[in-house]
Amino acid sequence: MSFIPFNKPFFSGLEFTYMRQALDSGHVSGDGRFTRETEARLRALLGGERHLLTPSCTAALEMCALLLDIAQGDEIIAPAFTFVSSVNAFVLRGARPVFADIRPDTLNIDEEKIEGLITERTRAIVVVHYAGVGCEMEAIMKLAAARGVPVIEDNAHGLFGAYRGRPLGSFGRFATESFHETKNITCGEGGALTVNEERDVERADIIREKGTDRSRFFRGQVDKYGWADVGSSYLLSDLLSACLLAQFEKKDLIQARRRALWNAYAEGLAAWAGSQGAGLPVIPPHCDQSYHMFYLLLPSLDFRQRLIAHLRAADILGVFHYLPLNRSAMARKIGAERECPVTEDISDRLLRLPFFFDLGDDDQRRVIDRIIDFC
Ligand SMILES: *Cc1c(COP(=O)(O)O)cnc(C)c1O
Repeated sequence: MSFIPFNKPFFSGLEFTYMRQALDSGHVSGDGRFTRETEARLRALLGGERHLLTPSCTAALEMCALLLDIAQGDEIIAPAFTFVSSVNAFVLRGARPVFADIRPDTLNIDEEKIEGLITERTRAIVVVHYAGVGCEMEAIMKLAAARGVPVIEDNAHGLFGAYRGRPLGSFGRFATESFHETKNITCGEGGALTVNEERDVERADIIREKGTDRSRFFRGQVDKYGWADVGSSYLLSDLLSACLLAQFEKKDLIQARRRALWNAYAEGLAAWAGSQGAGLPVIPPHCDQSYHMFYLLLPSLDFRQRLIAHLRAADILGVFHYLPLNRSAMARKIGAERECPVTEDISDRLLRLPFFFDLGDDDQRRVIDRIIDFC
């Protein structure tokens, strides 16, 4: 009986072929052939004006903060139940996060809690499609337009998902993707910025190229390049882009397996969850999820901790998820503490189960059986 990890990245073999081609080509810095081809995949999937591969989703979020000229005294609204990068990218520029609580069903930012948090200092609304299930984008985009506040989709979980038939990552002024090894497709560390409005395209190119107009130079639009704006080093190496292109080419295979695993968990655990008062993920009918994770919402913190220990004793790793950002040491330090009761409750009771391409049917059966025999 072998140990069942929580996550394990999947590589098909094509990654090595493409990475060798990148090495052989002699071009392994950014913006080579593989970067362009991978960016074209994103364009085909999401539409949008520009897709830029970045070293991480965090880097893409930092680019958003630079593109919006976020400065000291500004505020951004974000869910309290998310990864630190969704807010840190803006805090780095001096903004203060204003945390919104989440919906108890999808665990996404509660669209009805946003309006009351908007002030004259609000510069952005950051939304996260938790577990790849779309936020209520209809209401959020309507509110944001009425109040003139840009929306940024942190789409680290949501790539390949859709809301009312439209892809996640295509709604906001900006969207960011993650290709970290814990995400559906990966190159180890990587990300992307999607620019959905023409007015941001030129500046996004410049900020990504250390504040120079080097991209324009390579397109033959200017005859020399120089320092044009603030910026940083936000390009992904073509070696990693090669890995990522291979993952994009295997996306149907990867997504099909993840869907099968997700459905098997949902079917295998439904009766047990019903009998224990535990919750399974809620997928509204107008959301096509991305099959990013499978979680249980257990009746209490104590129940969850005992189940984690029970699984651990059976060589199975189940893990909890985000701690409420609104109660973090950093939130205290910068005066961003707020009450977000749903976030605080969910954070205590959520358990993520092993979920990755190579999880075999027998191993998944073992996870389900050990949960059922817990009580
Ligand atoms: C993984 C993740 C990130 C960070 O992604 P990196 O590519 O590691 O920077 C940001 N936001 C969310 C919601 C994530 O899940």
